[in-house]
Amino acid sequence: MKSFDEAPFLVIWELTQACDLACVHCRACAIADRNPFELSTEEGFRLLETVREFGDPLMVFTGGDPLKRPDVFPLLEKSVQLGLRTTITPSATPLLTEAAIDGFQRCGVARMAVSLDGPDAASHDGFRRVEGSFARTALALNYARRIGLPAQINTTVTRHNVGRLAEISSLVRDSGARLWSVFFLVATGRASASQDLTAEEYEEVFAFLYELSKTAPFDIKTTEAQHYRRYVARQRKAERRPADARHAPPDVIQRQAGINDGKGFVFISHTGEIYPSGFLPVSAGNVRRDSLVRVYRHSPLFRTLRNADNLHGKCGECEYRNLCGGSRSRSFALTGDYLAEDPRCVYIPKADGSGKRAERAAPPAPPAAGLEPLVQVLPESPR
Ligand code: SF4
Ligand code: SF4
Repeated sequence: MKSFDEAPFLVIWELTQACDLACVHCRACAIADRNPFELSTEEGFRLLETVREFGDPLMVFTGGDPLKRPDVFPLLEKSVQLGLRTTITPSATPLLTEAAIDGFQRCGVARMAVSLDGPDAASHDGFRRVEGSFARTALALNYARRIGLPAQINTTVTRHNVGRLAEISSLVRDSGARLWSVFFLVATGRASASQDLTAEEYEEVFAFLYELSKTAPFDIKTTEAQHYRRYVARQRKAERRPADARHAPPDVIQRQAGINDGKGFVFISHTGEIYPSGFLPVSAGNVRRDSLVRVYRHSPLFRTLRNADNLHGKCGECEYRNLCGGSRSRSFALTGDYLAEDPRCVYIPKADGSGKRAERAAPPAPPAAGLEPLVQVLPESPR
């Protein structure tokens, strides 16, 4: 595993912003029609070849709905042929047929991720704003299980479903999914801050996830809630859990350690813009004119984001800033400053700043050492 200064752990490509769902929180403000300025098939092939120069990061095909592109299967094939561990996050629409899921498997996709935002049709479809999405999600998961294609479920926690996470987790368990990826809202695109939880409620969800992770037959990870790692680290210390504890949280947390927007993570938009995250739409270049590898390694934006000592407010003083660092996307969305402290964290760092001095004195831990084997990990859907 290379240092995050050299290569991302995760590359997300938004193939298109077209999608036939209309979710209330959509980062991409997706609409039904494709943008004529999307990267072409040839440009997509070149992008994948460039990603391979990083080594073997996890390659996530997302959208919009990747199935809105007729060339999605040749692109998937190319990605797998190049040796990239490839995952896809299709939308649960009539395009997600059994034939399409067969196609993913035939191309060699390692995992398919679908979204589930409520435990029943009324809550899920209300959020996705298209009737039948819940039923299609269930069908897709059933079929993937039948043919042996590993699946992941993504859930965005908002005010509308925070009281129903236990019910959703039961469906995750029943589905046979390998990973439950729990997204915390970033107020960008169609998402608004009023849908978001309070910082205190984040902690309550962390507690629920942590306890669940001790017995769940699936892994759990969070997206845009980097402070879940702080929560887990403190719980483990309080519980004096042994290093070889078999439960999921330490494993998944270890694999995620230090990953943040622009740090182990890079997002390519449908038109080729290079962002630290899909939730942080600040461009450091465009793959049509710039080298993705060079931008990731050397652009001031990415380099600044990778150094936790640059963080402002309490995140900059926090002893967990290298493990966590707060959501740079949320800070940007709510304050306009991607280095600001995460407004949804309750933690108060040590008042004397000793955490900061102590961490600076220590040699930096390899951020993602021993992370994978990847296929267990996190194809995530940055939507
Ligand atoms: S969040 Fe995803 S599934 Fe929903 S409209 Fe946006 S792209 Fe489509
Ligand atoms: S203060 Fe910032 S770095 Fe510390 S735990 Fe909270 S979000 Fe993470």
